[in-house]
Amino acid sequence: MSGQPETLEFQAEARQLLQLMVHSIYSNKDIFLRELISNASDALDKLRLESLVNKELLVDASDLHITIEVDKQERTLTVRDNGIGMSRDEVVTLIGTIAKSGTAELLRKMRETKDAASQDLIGQFGVGFYASFMVADKVTLVTHRAGESGATRWESTGEGTYEISSVDDAPQGTAVTLYLKPEDAEDHLFDYAADWKIKEIVKRYSDFIAWPIRMDNERTDAEGVTTREIETLNSMKALWARPRDEVKDDEYKEFYRHISHDWSDPLEIVHMKAEGTFEYEALLFIPSHAPFDLFMREGKRGVQLYVKRVFIMDDCEELMPEYLRFVKGVVDAQDLSLNVSREILQQDRQIQLMRRRLVRKVLSTVKDLLTSNPEGYHTFWTQFGRAVKEGLLNDHENQKAILDIASFASTHDGGKDTTLAEYVARMKDGQQSVYYMTGESRPTLENSPHLEAFRAKGYEVLLLTDPIDEMWVESVPEYDGKRLQSIAKGQVDLDTEDEKKDAEPQREQQKKDFAALLSWMGTALRDSVKEVRLSSRLTTSPACIVGDAQDVTPTLEKMYRAMGQ
Ligand code: ADP
Ligand code: MG
Repeated sequence: MSGQPETLEFQAEARQLLQLMVHSIYSNKDIFLRELISNASDALDKLRLESLVNKELLVDASDLHITIEVDKQERTLTVRDNGIGMSRDEVVTLIGTIAKSGTAELLRKMRETKDAASQDLIGQFGVGFYASFMVADKVTLVTHRAGESGATRWESTGEGTYEISSVDDAPQGTAVTLYLKPEDAEDHLFDYAADWKIKEIVKRYSDFIAWPIRMDNERTDAEGVTTREIETLNSMKALWARPRDEVKDDEYKEFYRHISHDWSDPLEIVHMKAEGTFEYEALLFIPSHAPFDLFMREGKRGVQLYVKRVFIMDDCEELMPEYLRFVKGVVDAQDLSLNVSREILQQDRQIQLMRRRLVRKVLSTVKDLLTSNPEGYHTFWTQFGRAVKEGLLNDHENQKAILDIASFASTHDGGKDTTLAEYVARMKDGQQSVYYMTGESRPTLENSPHLEAFRAKGYEVLLLTDPIDEMWVESVPEYDGKRLQSIAKGQVDLDTEDEKKDAEPQREQQKKDFAALLSWMGTALRDSVKEVRLSSRLTTSPACIVGDAQDVTPTLEKMYRAMGQ
């Protein structure tokens, strides 16, 4: 039932991304093969899982693999898999559009920034299938969805439209054929029709892929005899299952790129293995920069879950709390069923224990950075601090551990943030509390009259300017036995007992002198304030407004109002 080819348009965002690919803004074109292999590998993962879970499905899962074929005469390169394949509708939605949230925004930013910076951005996004157009001026894709009859053919030059048609027959899975750009043939570095080049790229980027990547070569010698040679190019070793000292740094980095689509190196690698009643291996990465969608509702969160080397799911939120959503990686558990669902994961006690251990390990890894790599720590906190602080609101068990790795602006040093431990070490004799102030920005806080007395007496005050700070300070009573106290709330007593005794007569006198004024002001301002009292906290400002200890702060009030409450 082969039909007439139909010409369809790429979605606008897809078209823009394609433009960037066709004009190859990224200098490392080699990665197109990594993207195709990664898609093929995903398709094989999905097929295996589906064949295990859905026994009725009539699919062949016996020899799952990826094949690369090169036709040197035609200068084509084909990446073939016998995985899940795509239905016609899937081809249209998955290949013709970009479903990822935030794409339009990212593309806009890319256009605004210079070339070097846009490479960073594109790395965050993961170029995927379209990377083919960096090296090919035409791409065809023939795909047969496992369990369905009939197949689909797709073809495009990457210029705004593509052709799609039905084909009668095609093997299960997907074959992507690239018609390599003729100009690349001149440069042997970009000769993607050369065996050595293919082998090198596979080894470098895709060695750990769990499925065999085979090169299928047909050679015809001088006598016209044709031989066929099939070679497996990758070692297929699951990186997380190998002992740490046997894995090279570059291998970790490549693997990180594979799972995160982030082209920069990770900041930290956490490789752990748990033995005993519940066995698992985890290979986690802390990225070196925040993804663009860190604070978007639809942003990706969570790590990949494998069960006994079988890929089960992406974005497994049950394994990582939301405030550590930027952590990437793989967790491979030995004792779960392959059928495990999100509902089961949510209730499984072993999963909860595992998650607790993973969280503690991530937090302690960051804590180690504080001493072993202060610059790395600084990067971490700048990129992810705002997200991590969300944990102070809901992860009570790890509150102390989170506070240990947090740092804040402070009056101690205008240019450098301080940890709470450093603050406590600097506390004055007799100082009972950690003082802080929340507000919109550092300059606003620094000009605040509330600070005056603290400054005058040499007390350090933390300046908390993230909106989230307003919220967590309410649920964190203390650090290391020291109360956290807002200097804008209630009565703050800075004087020592002696100082108080000395000042007593003067204060009594002042109270008498100003009694009439205070009572008049109290009446005049009746609708706006609860009380007008003499203050010992000011040195140069005539007056300041303070909240009661249990009041919401002005910034929080503004936030609530903005949220319509
Ligand atoms: P990503 O892999 O990040 O989702 P891609 O652009 O690489 O983005 O691929 C888009 C989608 O097209 C994939 O998510 C997948 O659903 C589908 N796809 C691509 N290649 C294949 C393939 N070889 N087999 C099955 N589906 C594929
Ligand atoms: Mg992909």
